[in-house]
Amino acid sequence: MTRPRILVVGAGFAGVECVRRLERKLSPGEADITLVTPFAYQLYLPLLPQVASGVLTPQSIALSLRRSEKYRTRIIPGGAIGVDLKAKVCVIRMITDKIVNERYDYIVLTPGSVTRTFDIPGLTEHAFGMKTLAEAAYIRDHVISQLDLADASQDPAERAARLQFVVVGGGYAGTETAACLQRLTHAAVKRYPRLDPGLIKWHLIDIAPRLMPELGEKLGRSAQEVLRRRGIEVSLGVSIEKAGPEEVTFTDGRVIPTRTLIWTAGVVASPLIATLGAETVKGRLAVTPEMCLPGSDGVFALGDAAAVPDLAKGDGAVCPPTAQHAMRQGRRAADNIIAALRNQPMQPYVHKDLGLVVDLGGKDAVSKPLGVELHGLPAQVVARGYHWGALRTNVAKTRVMTNWLLNAVAGDDFVRTGFQARKPAKLKDFEFTDAYLTPEQVREHVEQTLPRPA
Ligand SMILES: Cc1cc2nc3c(=O)[nH]c(=O)nc-3n(C[C@H](O)[C@H](O)[C@H](O)COP(=O)(O)OP(=O)(O)OC[C@H]3O[C@@H](n4cnc5c(N)ncnc54)[C@H](O)[C@@H]3O)c2cc1C
Repeated sequence: MTRPRILVVGAGFAGVECVRRLERKLSPGEADITLVTPFAYQLYLPLLPQVASGVLTPQSIALSLRRSEKYRTRIIPGGAIGVDLKAKVCVIRMITDKIVNERYDYIVLTPGSVTRTFDIPGLTEHAFGMKTLAEAAYIRDHVISQLDLADASQDPAERAARLQFVVVGGGYAGTETAACLQRLTHAAVKRYPRLDPGLIKWHLIDIAPRLMPELGEKLGRSAQEVLRRRGIEVSLGVSIEKAGPEEVTFTDGRVIPTRTLIWTAGVVASPLIATLGAETVKGRLAVTPEMCLPGSDGVFALGDAAAVPDLAKGDGAVCPPTAQHAMRQGRRAADNIIAALRNQPMQPYVHKDLGLVVDLGGKDAVSKPLGVELHGLPAQVVARGYHWGALRTNVAKTRVMTNWLLNAVAGDDFVRTGFQARKPAKLKDFEFTDAYLTPEQVREHVEQTLPRPA
């Protein structure tokens, strides 16, 4: 008899937690586990701004998928580009570009999210995202190269433009990005004696009236105060009218000469979800509290890609797209698959939010663990302690701690690697959003390529 095939799509917080739990709780004879992932690591996204600012090396937040005592999952190096729910087939583009079909009995969809963009002229052509390791490494090189080029330029207008930086998005990702990168340029400029530090200007803008509304008014104001003290100009109720290669126009009419526009104004579910042709809630796959897709046998979806009802909150709320929920949903989904395999009842996902931590670099942070409002050093201890504890492997914990200590003692060398220089660096180049099939193309592909029953 063949074993049931469990296919997990995406090796992020939700997918890896699910796989690890399945490996621990299922005997090898009970099911085959396969993981589809374009990368050989799980990215610890909340520490991405620290990679961009050089506090951490990229490798320290890229956690190996193969370092685990019970590791036995088959890994397919590629990305899913469509799912045919009827045929129970996932269409995968391997990293070699070869397209293959993978059959499953149970599929766990955890492809996460991509940067949300709007129909703003020039945005996708000129903005950088902060969602992948490559983007963080690219932005770091880009920011340092602006200092190098400004230093070398004889043209005062060019020098001023290269030293202005715009971050859009006042959620935790954008706020942390602006705060950490401002610390980078503030420290780096000391190595450029010919540059006037007063020319360096960071802008953080958001269309909302407050920064990080989920933190509450007091902590949001406290974060804003830290940014203002550091010289970051925070503009609320403002967005981008248009973006060009050498300037950005704000909706309040200001035109900012700049070569750096970082766009972190929210996320949307991975385009993979649209290939299913199933019901969605604001782009996320609509699932039951057990994280099952209604009407489709053996389909689970969780993490940023799914609208999982938030039973702890009630009132029809869905879980926000956070790592905290994704990890816990991963474990619950694994338990539910095991229950399904053993003909036992599934359990709904219920988790009360533990709060939020926001690292603004150095001794600055704001956090709200279990509703307690903290700022300054105590908040930073909680923020770093939380992330450190959440890193999955001891090797990753050691790498991150060593990086933090080294950075605190020796600072940064502001080295520009040039690895990605002259390569396309638009949002779609890093997030591969145009790689997916339409639901019709998926069906057509599967019909043409699957062997027909004799
Ligand atoms: C800068 C930043 C800071 C953040 N800070 C925090 C924080 O402090 N606290 C917090 O709780 N949350 C934070 N988040 C949000 C958090 O990282 C996400 O909510 C979480 O990663 C979602 O987990 P996931 O498993 O759904 O997706 P992810 O962790 O994003 O994993 C998705 C995985 O699927 C892979 N994938 C994508 N498409 C495909 C495909 N077609 N086929 C196969 N694989 C695919 C991706 O490569 C990735 O490995 C932050 C996010 C960002 C960007």
